[in-house]
Amino acid sequence: MSKPRKVHIKSFGCQMNVYDSHRMADTLAPAGFSETANTEDADLVILNTCHIREKAAEKVYSEIGRIRVLKDAAAAQGRPMMIAVAGCMAQAEGKEIIRRAASVDLVVGSQNYHRLPDMIARAERGAKLVDTEFPVEDKFAALSAPRRAAIRQRGISSFVTVQEGCDKFCTFCVVPYTRGAEVSRPVKQIVAEVERLVNAGVREVTLIGQNVNAYHGQSEDGAPATLGKLLRRLSAVPGIIRLRYTTSHPRDMDHDLIRAHGELEALMPYVHLPVQSGSDRMLAAMNRRHTRDDYLAVIDRLRAARSDLAFSSDFIVGFPGETEEDFQDTLALVDEVGFAGAYSFMYSARPGTPAAEMGDQVAPESKAERLQRLQAAITRHQRAFNAAFAGRDLDVLLEKPGKLPGQLVGRSPYLQAVQVMAPHSLIGQIAPVTVTEVGSNSLFGALTDETRVPQLAAAGA
Ligand code: SF4
Repeated sequence: MSKPRKVHIKSFGCQMNVYDSHRMADTLAPAGFSETANTEDADLVILNTCHIREKAAEKVYSEIGRIRVLKDAAAAQGRPMMIAVAGCMAQAEGKEIIRRAASVDLVVGSQNYHRLPDMIARAERGAKLVDTEFPVEDKFAALSAPRRAAIRQRGISSFVTVQEGCDKFCTFCVVPYTRGAEVSRPVKQIVAEVERLVNAGVREVTLIGQNVNAYHGQSEDGAPATLGKLLRRLSAVPGIIRLRYTTSHPRDMDHDLIRAHGELEALMPYVHLPVQSGSDRMLAAMNRRHTRDDYLAVIDRLRAARSDLAFSSDFIVGFPGETEEDFQDTLALVDEVGFAGAYSFMYSARPGTPAAEMGDQVAPESKAERLQRLQAAITRHQRAFNAAFAGRDLDVLLEKPGKLPGQLVGRSPYLQAVQVMAPHSLIGQIAPVTVTEVGSNSLFGALTDETRVPQLAAAGA
């Protein structure tokens, strides 16, 4: 029996890191580790890092400095504390991290965290370890399955990684270097994970991958599967009521996936489809491999498959060489699509990427000014999108208690947060809600007719 210890895992960056952090906790559980929310109590602190933005690494180093103080205090009390750095920054910087921060004991890349129990055992004997190779073994097959109690604690919505890495090489992006080439998990493995989640009470699963719609795993019958085929298979898992996927590339939005939007009730009508720019010149410089018209054609085809689809996107402003005219093309695209939401960032150079070497960098003040104008346009569309729901009925998946007594918070099919007065027993259920008020960050509503709430088999509830 392993001695009981505590691990504190802090995630930076995207949903893939959130998922990886959960899987690290699952894999450490058989070695005696239980999760703690307090860094002070931890025997092991893992920083699961991101490398996508310029300041991400500096943030991690300052966090390591803060934890080092706790580590020294714990050591003074005769209680060793270990620090591990995982994720994309670990993958990119490797042993440089231990050189810059000697208090770090372990550096583990995003493809190697299934080896954590073994690495910890070796580090306890005094070794400093760095493991950032791309392994030959299947990481997912080697990970321990999540325990039922851990799944239930994480809520009724869950991420499942189905694909990792990217072969697209957009000129601004580090992902192809930090996460490697595209790899897809087999359908059978994903179905088993989703069934386990659903049996523990999860009702909504978001399939994630750096380029999720490039998914090309092996089906249960051995044939190659697309994301559309995978979604069809998962929609047949008893107890699953909502499916989503993110993040997609416009070029990989194939006919089968588009059709799935018109056919699968469980597939939510909200698609995150990054475009990055509305200018063909910029899209070419970014090596996006699609034009503005290609993107708009994909949106049209998706809307033809399901008319109530809404879209969100990602934008970069101030990419090297971007002129005011290019930027105007982006603003025009935002108006043309009418996004329900979007993430927008100023371009920042990532070392090692082709764009970092490009001349004609845009002045910081122009970038900031364009970002402001873009965000104003996005907010205008988002508000109009939300305002259109006033007085309408929406199916809301109730997730957790709200801030007020007797209030629950849930999500609409369009990922809007919805606050509603409802009994605690409805958590995990879909409730029809009439929207009574539209706030800036969420909708407020009243249960339309509680008796219509489907009584799902809340497994183990
Ligand atoms: S498709 Fe996405 S993950 Fe791949 S290189 Fe481009 S931005 Fe990065």
